[in-house]
Amino acid sequence: MPREWSEKVAAALSRPAAQQPPWPDSGQVRSVSAFLATLPPLVTPEEIRALRRQTARAARGEALVLQGGDCAETFDATREHITGNATTLLRMAAVVTGGSGLPVVPVGRLAGQYAKPRSDSVDGLGLPVYRGDIVNAAVPDPRERVPDPMRMIEAHRTARATLDQLRGRFAGIHTSHEALLLDYEHPQLAVDPTDGKLYGTSAHFLWIGERTRQLDGAHVALAELLANPVGIKLGPGTTPALAAEYAERLDPRAEAGRLTLISRMGSGRVRDALPALVDAVAATGRQVVWMCDPMHGNTRVSAMGYKTRHFDDVMDELEGFFQVHRALGSHPGGVHLEFTGDRVTECLGGPRAVTEPGLSGRYESTCDPRLNAEQALALADRIARLSGRQSSSRDTGTTVFP
Ligand code: PEP
Ligand code: MN
Repeated sequence: MPREWSEKVAAALSRPAAQQPPWPDSGQVRSVSAFLATLPPLVTPEEIRALRRQTARAARGEALVLQGGDCAETFDATREHITGNATTLLRMAAVVTGGSGLPVVPVGRLAGQYAKPRSDSVDGLGLPVYRGDIVNAAVPDPRERVPDPMRMIEAHRTARATLDQLRGRFAGIHTSHEALLLDYEHPQLAVDPTDGKLYGTSAHFLWIGERTRQLDGAHVALAELLANPVGIKLGPGTTPALAAEYAERLDPRAEAGRLTLISRMGSGRVRDALPALVDAVAATGRQVVWMCDPMHGNTRVSAMGYKTRHFDDVMDELEGFFQVHRALGSHPGGVHLEFTGDRVTECLGGPRAVTEPGLSGRYESTCDPRLNAEQALALADRIARLSGRQSSSRDTGTTVFP
């Protein structure tokens, strides 16, 4: 990497970084990072630029981005699981396109969504918390919870295998994950000689999570340097001034589609909190993609102790998001969801009404609860109607499930 770039990257990464694992052996982390830097890139600058052109269309109101997949991908995911998630994403995209008349840009939480930010450093059993397969194992065993840098190599290998599987039938799907684990992202930074820009080559789209968006932190500083389309999650604590500052920092040249602001307010807050943020960002002159994540502000724990979300809350936040944009005349540019093609019972309600006692039937997520395919497609149907330029012809409420 040219010296001026490596100096900028070093300066960004010298800032405080939240949510990094307590690696027991920093020497081993350095050798793993050095090895990762020798591997061919997972995605290419050319593919990243192609996505940038599509997010630019979404920012201008000419397309919608549909982003989603597992909360936490795991190394033992089967081919069927990956196919199921990718198929569900494309089915949802087809439903949304059919109803809205707008092209849909499918972006998977795929081939790299292995690192998880956590609210507490210990779990309910008092063990070091599970931080995603890229760091430690979900099994409740103290030895398995010790962060192991070799897992970053396994993550890279699994990401490559997932990408290989997506070629062909799923070639239209771009990949994304939270750019959380800096020791994994750093060795995958590359400057493209054709344009002299810096790319994160671990995925096409990278986002900053709610817990790592400190203005003086390493995650924002690194994202600032990238030519990828980048996102940032905005929870209910975000002030209009802060949203405007993110827009200026993360989209310094005011390029449409460079930045995606992912609102995750909670169903009770979105209608009150979002309008002032949209206004403040518009006042900066930036054309961002405004995206709704109706999942992460609506998480609760069931009576039986399952982390869950109610389909109705998810639907309500989505509706609130579209109402806000309709009232302001701004474009609701996309939706970010956690779902799977598997018939899991992790979120309550939906077409076949998953109940509290029913959660234990098939609860498989190692982190947050996902919509199953039926719930996801019902939501896609709603998105299609909400984003329809004229009222949708599919007003009978019927959705065809697989
Ligand atoms: C996530 O997307 O899984 C996540 C942790 O989201 P957030 O940063 O919005 O809490
Ligand atoms: Mn999640």
